[in-house]
Amino acid sequence: MSAHPQKLGMHASMVAPETGAALAPGISTAKPLAAILDVLHRGERFLVCSHTHPDGDAVGSMLALGMVIEQMGKAAHLVTADRVPIQYWQLPGADAIHTMPRIRGRYDAAILLECDSLERTRLRGLEELFLVNIDHHITGVEFAHLNWIDHHAASVGEMVYQLARAAGVAITPQMAQCLYTTILTDTGGFCYGNVCESTFALARELVEAGADPIAVARQVYFSAPISKLLLLGAALRRLKREGCVAWLWVTHQDTQRACATEEDCEGIVNVALGMAGVDTGVFLRELPDGVIRVSLRSKGRLNVAAIAARLGGGGHQNAAGCTLEGPLPRALKEILAELRGDL
Ligand code: 5GP
Ligand code: MN
Repeated sequence: MSAHPQKLGMHASMVAPETGAALAPGISTAKPLAAILDVLHRGERFLVCSHTHPDGDAVGSMLALGMVIEQMGKAAHLVTADRVPIQYWQLPGADAIHTMPRIRGRYDAAILLECDSLERTRLRGLEELFLVNIDHHITGVEFAHLNWIDHHAASVGEMVYQLARAAGVAITPQMAQCLYTTILTDTGGFCYGNVCESTFALARELVEAGADPIAVARQVYFSAPISKLLLLGAALRRLKREGCVAWLWVTHQDTQRACATEEDCEGIVNVALGMAGVDTGVFLRELPDGVIRVSLRSKGRLNVAAIAARLGGGGHQNAAGCTLEGPLPRALKEILAELRGDL
């Protein structure tokens, strides 16, 4: 059984390696990568978590970070509140991600990927742990004991890659496959504004290290269950456009009729954005309890993260989301009013 963070002195006497200053929650060090490595070197057992409804970046970066920690000779437990979506089940080690609502056991640190708060994990039992936050969202928040937020990174996987390099561990073909998935999915297939020269350089390095881009693309883009296509059909019947904004939605009944799951909604918003002359796409989904999940995408300069943040959500400049109260027409009105104000 490994030591609790307090016994290791991480809570009480965790210091910034470069300054020796005590670290308090919400205060980042100037060299967060070095500080995170220090935490990994000092501890033995780590928890790696991400947000609810994990996406390709969440799953791929959790798996890759788990591999980094294991190569360092330490234990990593990977946990999310929601199950891994089916298109990521083929990723190396995907069955090691446990789905559970509550954390039990002792860890030297919990590393949260892509989260702006503990709530975003929807996991209970994290409060007592030493928390490390690794994120690349423009709306990222320094909520943890140690925070590394880099919104220039195309994916959190890119940051995990940097961590692996700094730790001196080998980029195995399995790790490369997971990291490549984070980049492909978070850039929307190298289409979003977060793509730059270094994204392609990293993709190349990962392919050289053994990632199989064709296998990843096949899993991510060409393996949809029929329920997903039926749900897309329901959403497309409701497609509306006003100037450069297009929106579509599905009711809970649509979801039931299509025998669709939450995962089947992924990507529907991009169809709205695919229309000529449309800069902003909105997809609304009614949950069983009547609450509305909103996905926002932009292919122009409009910062949808700012809009989502005003409504209690967050994300990136070109991809963001939030949760609104129902019913659907009310939520649609609210989001369109926010968008019209910003256009
Ligand atoms: P999606 O529309 O695919 O659910 O989310 C798009 C992006 O916005 C993702 O990067 C996701 O992490 C972020 N996002 C979506 N919903 C929320 C939310 O409620 N809060 C925060 N902070 N970020 C969100
Ligand atoms: Mn991401």
